[in-house]
Amino acid sequence: MRTKEASNSAELLTYAPFTLFPTPVPKAVFRQAVDVQIHYNSLVDKISQSSDFLEEALASTIEVDEFTSRLFKIHKQILEEGRSQSVVLGLNRSDYMLDQRDDGSSALKQIEINTISASFGGLSAGVVNVHKHILKVAGRMEDSMAILDNNPGAGLARAIAKAKELYGSERAVVLILVSDDEQNIYDQRYIELELMKLNVRTIRRTFEDVCVRGSLDEDKRLFVDDMEVAVVYFRNGYVPQQYKSQQDWDTRLMLERSHAIKCPNIATHLTGTKKVQQVLAQPGVLERFFPTELHVVDQIRATFTGLYTLDMGPEGDKTVAMAIQDPERYVLKPQREGGGNNIYGAEICKVLQEAKGSERTAYILMDMIKPTSSHNYLLRRDGPLTVSNCLSELGVFGAYVRQGSTMVMNEQVGHLLRTKSSVHADGGVAAGVAVLDNPLLY
Ligand code: ADP
Ligand code: MG
Ligand code: MG
Repeated sequence: MRTKEASNSAELLTYAPFTLFPTPVPKAVFRQAVDVQIHYNSLVDKISQSSDFLEEALASTIEVDEFTSRLFKIHKQILEEGRSQSVVLGLNRSDYMLDQRDDGSSALKQIEINTISASFGGLSAGVVNVHKHILKVAGRMEDSMAILDNNPGAGLARAIAKAKELYGSERAVVLILVSDDEQNIYDQRYIELELMKLNVRTIRRTFEDVCVRGSLDEDKRLFVDDMEVAVVYFRNGYVPQQYKSQQDWDTRLMLERSHAIKCPNIATHLTGTKKVQQVLAQPGVLERFFPTELHVVDQIRATFTGLYTLDMGPEGDKTVAMAIQDPERYVLKPQREGGGNNIYGAEICKVLQEAKGSERTAYILMDMIKPTSSHNYLLRRDGPLTVSNCLSELGVFGAYVRQGSTMVMNEQVGHLLRTKSSVHADGGVAAGVAVLDNPLLY
């Protein structure tokens, strides 16, 4: 990875942080996460096509949350104009923790689903060999052989290549929309290399590049530096700070309006909000998306923990009272990505008590998931080399391609285990808190 101090330079690099040993994960729970992924793919895809549902679910949020509101405005404009591309490409990662039950077993509970810029599908492949090696050195031959092969980046690339093929132009390229100060650039490069193996050409451009050197022709085909773009793969644009000016917003709109296949399109981006996650947990909502497949409803719902609305009204008032009564049991979540944005403990009371008007509707409340901890060494550039008490989060990558009403591809393409010291309530690898890991199934 690049370093924080020199995030736009290849001169000063460091290794992606990782655990010394893999972390034990129960086989059944791991399988459950893998098996439900194709249903999460379908769910995300169905929601992204249900404009009434999205509008209703996000109505209270967009009143107070400026970022979600701006995304929603683009979504509305696209709906009015009509989508100019019938191929949809979705790459997501559903994240879980294993909630500790009273009887000592653990239950798979979803933290969130990421529908834009879900990362570490590339670098996670490298940790497989690291742990295989370390276990051999430690004399644990059987465990070494039990580390699962894992190459999400290859699966993500396969879906991108499929979408590009359906776009139907040999010459057209895949545009990776990036920021100019990306520490995690090699995770993206990994996917580019996989695409190269599939003879798909990629270019990396920022919002600014596209703004200055990009345009739509009369058929809304997107051209950047005179190259036609088949697929726009967003690895930027998921937090407000990445839109540095109105121009960047205008550029996002131009990309959305274009005939290029967007990964994700604006509706799919909005589907990944925490507010949508909360609404999905309400009784009867999943059934709307799978009216004849109740086993799918059950499989998805089994991974939900308690999620509570903060909308204005008696339901939301009840949530506030509940949170203030016992804040340690909950997490307060805004509509943000990238780790480090959630609110915990006494701070929850403060935020909810001081919220004016309908400000509280920018958040949702969620049960705190309490996984069992394990001991490990977290290896990072400047961290101390001591045994930490650790918590892990399992992610499963999903990839799908739809053409019109036909699902052309719907797969689970690999996993990610991230582990952090239990002293941190929040924060991913990019936030400098979690490190890469592997599950050791038992
Ligand atoms: P982001 O989109 O910023 O990654 P997350 O919902 O993944 O937001 O929250 C960030 C981190 O906070 C997670 O990686 C996890 O460590 C912690 N976290 C989030 N929700 C919960 C929860 N319900 N219980 C326990 N920890 C949580
Ligand atoms: Mg997220
Ligand atoms: Mg997360």
